[in-house]
Amino acid sequence: MKTKGLRTNKINIVTLGCSKNLVDSEVLFTQLRGNGMDVTHESKKDDANIVVINTCGFIDNAKEESINTILRYADAKEAGVVDKVYVTGCLSHRYKDELELEIPTVDAWFGTNELPRLLKTLRADYKKELVGERLLTTPAHYAYLKIAEGCDRPCSFCAIPLMRGKHVSRPMDELVTEARSLARRGTKELILIAQDLTYYGLDIYKKRNLSELITQLADVEGIDWVRLQYAYPSGFPLDVLDVMRDHTSVCKYLDMPLQTGSTEMLKIMRRGITREKTEALVETIRERVPGIALRTTLIVGHPGETEAMFEETYNFVERMRFDRLGVFTYSHEDDTHSFSLPDELSADEKQERADAIMELQQGISFEMNQARVGQTYRVLFDRKEGGYFIGRTQFDSPEVDNEVIISADQYRDGGPVRLGDFANVQIERAEEFDLYGRVV
Ligand code: SF4
Repeated sequence: MKTKGLRTNKINIVTLGCSKNLVDSEVLFTQLRGNGMDVTHESKKDDANIVVINTCGFIDNAKEESINTILRYADAKEAGVVDKVYVTGCLSHRYKDELELEIPTVDAWFGTNELPRLLKTLRADYKKELVGERLLTTPAHYAYLKIAEGCDRPCSFCAIPLMRGKHVSRPMDELVTEARSLARRGTKELILIAQDLTYYGLDIYKKRNLSELITQLADVEGIDWVRLQYAYPSGFPLDVLDVMRDHTSVCKYLDMPLQTGSTEMLKIMRRGITREKTEALVETIRERVPGIALRTTLIVGHPGETEAMFEETYNFVERMRFDRLGVFTYSHEDDTHSFSLPDELSADEKQERADAIMELQQGISFEMNQARVGQTYRVLFDRKEGGYFIGRTQFDSPEVDNEVIISADQYRDGGPVRLGDFANVQIERAEEFDLYGRVV
């Protein structure tokens, strides 16, 4: 271990939470590199004397993970392993005043919109010319593209608007410039993210402009896949579906968190839509984009969720047969509208409901995957594990959805399969969430 006196400044950025936070860390990383600084992301080597922790403040588990990470580096500072610890991101934005008192070892706390001040503290200048020139922490062949920040929606359980502010769309030309720069450096898949994709343009173009944006991004040379994550059901811009159906570079994949299958609970959650309208929207999406994979997320155990409402959600999942599904147990978040409602269900009761939904979904996913056996899909390979390559079809987003596994000794077009390559894979076997096949 280097002694304190001889250390040169090296910065380690640690990212917690969602892909939107990851993009913020990548922007910080790019700015620091642009200032000629020695910076790394998620280094496990403990060779950095300055640590910047980009935290998540979404729900209980995430907050706990953020606090434990801060405490770990605070201890490392007290042990002389690191010199400086800085904290940014959602948890810091939301609880700065309390945390400053509770963990005085941290050198400074920053909000989610304080990049210039953070850079100044790290003795770096904010370089405007680097906007759109983002270095990636993901494998080079896919990148998250954050098209907007913040959210104007009133969902009763959600603290995100408290941490990320009002919805602000990024200008289309800036996004297209960034996509071109990413494509030049090998990005083939763009994953569009925001708190609510469907709101894109309402502020700066006075209309929902997601379909125009998707078209422009999908036309960028080198981009093979444009993927949509975090769409909101109410007011969904249907013209997006035509682009998805007709443009070969737009994945037939849509992530649309629906939260519950009970109209009464949708009302309590202030989602601005009914179950009936949700089902009609799902039907329209499946009609207009045949073969589309629909991903959703649900919250169970929200205040007021009776057995009957949960039953409605369970039946909704059974009927709708989503291709991909995740479930969260409700987290009682202060300063949200739901915080004023009695949180009566125990953690076990909430978990029981989540387990029941996931068990149901496991069966649905297994059946759907059996139907894929014998089919051939274009697969993008993300990583190698042991003697296997692991990739995804256009129906799967990184880290959350199904994967395609092939043995690593396979060839395509006369050459060995490499990470970041596309290859056509015929599916030979299927499990609940994984497909096994060979290159054809
Ligand atoms: S759409 Fe609703 S759940 Fe999503 S970030 Fe906005 S307020 Fe939160």
